[in-house]
Amino acid sequence: MPTFDVIIIGSGIGGLVTATQLAAKGIKVLVLESYLIPGGSAGYFEREGYCFDVGASMIFGLGQKGTTNLLTRALDAVNVSLETIDDPVQIHYHLPQGLDLKVDRVYEKFLQNLTAYFRHEAKGIRRFYDECWQVFNCLNSMELLSLEEPRYLLRTFFQHPLACLGLVKYLPQNVGKIAQRYINDPQLLKFIDMECYCWSVVPAKMTPMINAGMVFSDRHYGGVNYPKGGVGKIAQTLVAGLEKAGGKIQYQAKVTEIITEQGQAVGVRLANGQVHRGKRIVSNATRWDTFAKLLPKEKIPCDEKLWQQHYHKSPSFLSLHLGVQESVLPTGTECHHILLEDWQQMTAPNGTIFVSIPTLLDPDLAPEGYHIIHAFTPDWIDNWQGLTQSEYEANKEAAAWRIIDRLEKIFPGLDAGLDYLEVGTPRTHRRFLGREDGTYGPIPRRQLWGLLGMPFNRTAIPGLYCVGDSTFPGQGLNAVAFSGFACAHRIAVDLGL
Ligand SMILES: Cc1cc2nc3c(=O)[nH]c(=O)nc-3n(C[C@H](O)[C@H](O)[C@H](O)COP(=O)(O)OP(=O)(O)OC[C@H]3O[C@@H](n4cnc5c(N)ncnc54)[C@H](O)[C@@H]3O)c2cc1C
Repeated sequence: MPTFDVIIIGSGIGGLVTATQLAAKGIKVLVLESYLIPGGSAGYFEREGYCFDVGASMIFGLGQKGTTNLLTRALDAVNVSLETIDDPVQIHYHLPQGLDLKVDRVYEKFLQNLTAYFRHEAKGIRRFYDECWQVFNCLNSMELLSLEEPRYLLRTFFQHPLACLGLVKYLPQNVGKIAQRYINDPQLLKFIDMECYCWSVVPAKMTPMINAGMVFSDRHYGGVNYPKGGVGKIAQTLVAGLEKAGGKIQYQAKVTEIITEQGQAVGVRLANGQVHRGKRIVSNATRWDTFAKLLPKEKIPCDEKLWQQHYHKSPSFLSLHLGVQESVLPTGTECHHILLEDWQQMTAPNGTIFVSIPTLLDPDLAPEGYHIIHAFTPDWIDNWQGLTQSEYEANKEAAAWRIIDRLEKIFPGLDAGLDYLEVGTPRTHRRFLGREDGTYGPIPRRQLWGLLGMPFNRTAIPGLYCVGDSTFPGQGLNAVAFSGFACAHRIAVDLGL
């Protein structure tokens, strides 16, 4: 008999939300994590008094109202909570043609800021962002669970028929066409592209409207909230809740194989040879890692092959983790910035630079008098392969200084005020996050029907589920939390609960 009801491979936020949801229902769960700490792309590392976030730091889902605050709800479910700090501005954009704009937490203030640049588009701007609210209001009126569970779908439809119909309408749509319905100005449409690209890593015409409705509205509703102590606290607190609820987690437990019997997933084998059996197996690794590395490559199910024809791996990132003197930051600097000098370069490797300065919200993450700047920009693993160690180091250094030079525009004196510098490449992301090619996640190969092509949690292999950013609805902590709620819901039903 299996020792555990459910075995979860990976303790990213998707894996941990699945685990805590199941443990809260009394299901026996084991999480196996290859790294030393939980969190995956929402992890952290410490150096010389600085506590750096590995990746995510603009956190949605930690709000206090509605139904879309999934991180707060996941923590609540296992009787734990986090102290959070409100971020008054989601992003300060520094864009071409002098477009210097802050996305204020207050919706009307954001509209005013944007309209100040595009007065002739005032009506279109309001109509576009108001339509995003329609999507959000539909999502925010219902409990968000598994769309693969017919009884839930039926119940939700009877409770909220209009909201359900609204979502059905938007599910196959992308942002681009809707934006073009209201907006003509090419520069403003490029701005909408950037509004999408900065989290979907594709322009508006390829970004699903459902995801945009969430992001463009929730930033003014639940808001962007930073966890006190750093992003790593989210995973650590979920683990505390998991263990309180009777679940188990094992670190340095790299799964090398998903064991199948008569075509059904029944267990996992670890790198040290240990075997764990479970009634259900969940993979929080990416689909590429799950189906090509943990299962025989030659037996990739047809569904997966088809999916890979529609989606491919997004680039990874070049990441700079900087410690800087506080004098580097001009008064009134915001936490999150996006820098782009030429619209043509928006999607190019090293084109757009993303910046987070979490110490503006939580000064305890750096020594007194210093701040953290995390600057990252999309990059492909191919640019970092086949190098000797010295070439690799030299390329890292050169790439880092190119980014620092560009950042001098918004943080004059950055170079002189530098106290600490660590550079991560796509190889670093691959190694420490266990993600093939260090990818940020799946992106459409071409324009698709909104979110319709993103797979849910069940897979073609009975007993095996996937959770995290390569399942519906995609990347981002709140999105993978959604995937975790849905996965746990479907498994609980499959286990007869
Ligand atoms: C640089 C960067 C910036 C980002 N910024 C933001 C942001 O500001 N806001 C936001 O919401 N999102 C952001 N994201 C995206 C967000 O972090 C991810 O979408 C999300 O964390 C992915 O969660 P996940 O559960 O899918 O899996 P992951 O975080 O990838 O976790 C998977 C876990 O599984 C483990 N694992 C994998 N294979 C195995 C195996 N074989 N055996 C055992 N364990 C295994 C890994 O070690 C890892 O811990 C950012 C991402 C990056 C990289």
